[in-house]
Amino acid sequence: MGQASRTTKLLLDLDDRAEGGANRAKRAYLEETAKLLDRARTFYVAFFLAHPDKLAERVPYFSEQHQEERERLISPNELLTWAESLTVATAAHPHPLSSYNFSEQFPEFPFIYRRSVIKDALGKARSYLSNLANWNASGAKKGQPGPPSARNHPTLYDEACCLDLDGTDLRPSPRTCFARLKVYTGTEWQWHNYPVKLSRYFEARWRDPAWESKSPKLILRKKRAALHFPQVKKVAAKKVKESKADPHLVTVAVDLNVKKLAVITVRQDERIIETVFVSDHGLDQARFRHLKRLAKKQWQSGKPVKSEHSNQQLWGHVRRMNEDAAHKVARSIANVCARYPGCVLLFERLRTIKPKGASKSRRMNRRQANQLRGKINRYAKDKAYVQGTVTVEVNPHGTSQYCSRCGAKGERFSYQGGKRIQVKWGKLFGCPVCHFEVDADWNASVNVHRSFYREWHWQPRKKPPPKAA
Ligand SMILES: [Zn+2]
Repeated sequence: MGQASRTTKLLLDLDDRAEGGANRAKRAYLEETAKLLDRARTFYVAFFLAHPDKLAERVPYFSEQHQEERERLISPNELLTWAESLTVATAAHPHPLSSYNFSEQFPEFPFIYRRSVIKDALGKARSYLSNLANWNASGAKKGQPGPPSARNHPTLYDEACCLDLDGTDLRPSPRTCFARLKVYTGTEWQWHNYPVKLSRYFEARWRDPAWESKSPKLILRKKRAALHFPQVKKVAAKKVKESKADPHLVTVAVDLNVKKLAVITVRQDERIIETVFVSDHGLDQARFRHLKRLAKKQWQSGKPVKSEHSNQQLWGHVRRMNEDAAHKVARSIANVCARYPGCVLLFERLRTIKPKGASKSRRMNRRQANQLRGKINRYAKDKAYVQGTVTVEVNPHGTSQYCSRCGAKGERFSYQGGKRIQVKWGKLFGCPVCHFEVDADWNASVNVHRSFYREWHWQPRKKPPPKAA
């Protein structure tokens, strides 16, 4: 049993009120809330860093499994209770026990926000301390981990956020739906209704019974604000070892390239039963044109200023183009897998194609193409796993050099003006032994299956015998 996760986003409507959005004051409340929570987090990060011993405390417990007293690390919930008892004043203890007085610095702070802040701060402090310990142990002189920043997106637990979508009809007036949030106005905490941009897409995802929704995070950007709902789903997937025992196992192999983004081949009983080519629809060229413009702009304006990102709009466009293509290709890979329940998805372990020589824009384009391949790989893995398909990364050695029919070493070539020329970038693959001629990327994709089954030269590497002393 495993677990798949995804994020479902709901945009808050912060357009002008005349267009049905929230008013300006409400927008300011969100910023005030985030700011105050950041300050509260700073308080607790400092508090935890002042008590490093407590974070590493071992507590005794009785293990049912081993039937004996054992020790374990103190749990986050225990630390939460402990931190609250030391910093928060109650009717019974009007003065907190430590010099850290949270109630005095943050009066009227809702306890649900306080808990989310404490948990956040605890995670930050713990990861900082363990990074620091690792760094100290490594004996390195450079790269000392810096103290943790207290900024984070606020998590809205049930008592601070309420989203009521029942009884709203989407079609006649799409903006009748609100999210009720507890926000800080700058002086006090209040409940406010924020109009949301509801869509059928969001509803279908949010209501999906297969997925369990968790408390959303409030993501504040310069122009937009959104609630991000993390969702998780239990996935039952077989182990690859068990799948491999099945003689009629279906394997789906993917070869990722620059122009033909993905070549998907499906194999069963040693036969290729389906092939799908996913082209980039001119993405590579379009991206190259944009990057050429970017390179020119950078050259004209001299060296780009460090830490200041120039040409943001254009970069954003290129990034979105890549992101969109990655999701689409990953979806078509997952769709092929969905047709063969119980199949195994195969990828090559990714190598980066080194961008050397060539012009700056060409190098930049190559780097983007590499990133795109990585994204397709990751997204396809996630999308396939949701359907219960497990992904295996295979040894990529020589998948594009060997003949997928007989296993001999072949060569890549192309036809130019009716003449066969041998070039490294050739689109076709030719085998000198069995005279098999085929699309080079398809050949590589078929070889990925061979690598998975350890056929021909794709044997596991034997370890060299240990040297006699
Ligand atoms: Zn051959």
